[in-house]
Amino acid sequence: MEFLIKGNLNKTYFKKVEANLKQLLPIPDYIEKIFIIDQVKHAASLFRDFPKNTRKKFLSTFEQEQASMAFTYKDIEVVIIFISKQDKYLKSNINACMGILAHELTHVFQKREGMNEHLSDCFNHFFDEYYKILQKLKYPPAETEKLAVTIGETATFVLKDLYMASELINRGLGDYLLEAYYCQFVKPVKAPKFYKSFDKATKEEILNAILFELALLSVVLPFQSYPNPKAKKLINYIQNKYEPHAQEIVKEFYGIDRLYDTEFSWSWEFQHKYFQKIFAGAAYLLKNKTNES
Ligand SMILES: [Zn+2]
Repeated sequence: MEFLIKGNLNKTYFKKVEANLKQLLPIPDYIEKIFIIDQVKHAASLFRDFPKNTRKKFLSTFEQEQASMAFTYKDIEVVIIFISKQDKYLKSNINACMGILAHELTHVFQKREGMNEHLSDCFNHFFDEYYKILQKLKYPPAETEKLAVTIGETATFVLKDLYMASELINRGLGDYLLEAYYCQFVKPVKAPKFYKSFDKATKEEILNAILFELALLSVVLPFQSYPNPKAKKLINYIQNKYEPHAQEIVKEFYGIDRLYDTEFSWSWEFQHKYFQKIFAGAAYLLKNKTNES
C-alpha cells in the first residue's frame, strides 16, 4: 500500500496517523493507495496512473464532492483523505484524523462485502411502494420520481454511515469516529434557518430541511447511548444548534430512533422499514405545507 501526502502537510504527523491506525485496523492489500491532500488540484497528479477515462471520472467526482472518499478501479481501491480549510483540526488532532481514515476504510470494506448492491437491490425491490407513498403529494410523475430518487439517495447515504459507525464501534474504534464527528460539528455555527414558519415554507425549503436533518441521523443514532461523555455533548450540540429550526421534521423522524435501537441490522426487513418511515415522514411533511398547492 502506498501512502502519499501532498500539500502543505506535516508528513511525520500523517505517517503517525497511518501507523497508529494500522495497529488497530488491518489495512488489506486491495487498498492500493491512500492519498492525503489539502487542495483539490493535487488529486490530478495522484490519479496519473489510471487510464484517461477513469482518471477523468475520478477527478470530476472528487472536484464536485471535495470530500474524503474512496474510488474503485478494477480490483483495487484508492482512498483520498481531503483536508479542506474547514477541516484544519485534522492536521493536529491525531484521533480525529484516524477517525476519518477509519471511516473511509470501513466504507471500502463494506463495499467489498456487497453492501452497495445489497442496499440498492433492497431499495429497488420496494421502489414502487415508496413511489406510491409520494404519489399522495399529487406532483407530476417526473417530479415524484425525481423526489423518490433524491430522498432514496440521502437515506441510503445515511444508512451506509450507520453501518460504518456500527462496525467501527463494534471493533472498539468508536472513540476515533466520535472525535472526528465532534470536531466536524461542535464549532461556532448559527442554527441553520430553513424557513420562517413551517406552515409557510415552500416545498423546496421543506425538502432541504428534511435532507439536512436526515443526514444528521447518521451522527446522532450511533452515539445516542455511546458510553463516552463527549457523545452526549455532541448530541446536545446538534440538538441545540442544528435542529431548532426544523422541529417539525425532527419530531416526524423520531420513530427512526426506536427502529434503530430495536431492529438495526443488515436485513432487508430493517432496511425496508427504515425507508418506509423516511418516505412516509417526508410525504407527510411535504403535504402539510400550506402555501403551495
Ligand atoms: Zn461515510
